[in-house]
Amino acid sequence: MSPLAARLSDLAADVLFTAVRVTEVTNLTTKFVKVTLGCDAFTRANWTPGDKLQLRPRRGSLAMRAYTPINWNPDEGSTDLIAYRHGEGPAARWFDNAVAGVDAEIFGPSKSLDLSDTVTHTVFAGDETSIGLACALRQFNSNATFLYEAHEPAELSNVLAASGIDADSHILRRSADHSELLDHIFEAAAIGRTGASVDIVVTGEAATVNAVRRGLKARPDLAARIKARAYWASGRTGLS
Ligand SMILES: Cc1cc2nc3c(=O)[nH]c(=O)nc-3n(C[C@H](O)[C@H](O)[C@H](O)COP(=O)(O)OP(=O)(O)OC[C@H]3O[C@@H](n4cnc5c(N)ncnc54)[C@H](O)[C@@H]3O)c2cc1C
Repeated sequence: MSPLAARLSDLAADVLFTAVRVTEVTNLTTKFVKVTLGCDAFTRANWTPGDKLQLRPRRGSLAMRAYTPINWNPDEGSTDLIAYRHGEGPAARWFDNAVAGVDAEIFGPSKSLDLSDTVTHTVFAGDETSIGLACALRQFNSNATFLYEAHEPAELSNVLAASGIDADSHILRRSADHSELLDHIFEAAAIGRTGASVDIVVTGEAATVNAVRRGLKARPDLAARIKARAYWASGRTGLS
């Protein structure tokens, strides 16, 4: 990007983004970090669990990366994010370098997946990037079943336990062949079902989201409603 374009991006960002401050950083494991962000504007923000925040991880560009708050404190004007530092992307590096006192630029909160109307019988399928959404679903629905796929199941398990959201959760090792995850989803969707409707909430890798969509087409007997959003895709950056 030319110096002029970078300068214009910074000027536009001053108008578009909210300036926030990192107030606390907790390294949960080597890959997972919890970051608390605070600002006066958050005391007036209209936040619903499941909404996203978009972080501008580097100056000179308007590129944003989406994260899902695990909570919101309107009195203090603060929120916590749990980020999975998976590689060398700008957001992963930003979370690597985050320390209390550092400033950041945020867009949102804005709508993502609406979980407020999920039915009692809901099956959640996510991955390392879906912890915020799992927290949101738990706020709306105390009966949901939680399935995850992860590169390192033990590491994700520790983070879920530390966050107090490990109940009714089962973590599978990530596999390019999604059949084990699909089997678990369909089994959980069918358990105890006596004609009641089922919701499937799925987020994480685009390939998984697509596999679940395809798999559900082959199971019309479940009559499941799907709420899905790809959070990342191999070789692509900055999905929102
Ligand atoms: C609505 C929404 C909410 C989200 N909430 C969260 C959240 O709460 N916590 C969280 O950690 N993430 C969350 N994500 C996912 C996060 O935005 C992406 O992982 C994002 O790509 C990270 O940006 P980056 O700059 O580190 O990597 P990018 O520059 O976007 O990507 C660099 C490379 O890394 C790969 N990549 C990206 N994510 C992953 C991954 N998880 N595993 C393996 N490879 C990956 C990409 O395919 C690409 O090749 C959310 C995404 C969306 C759309």
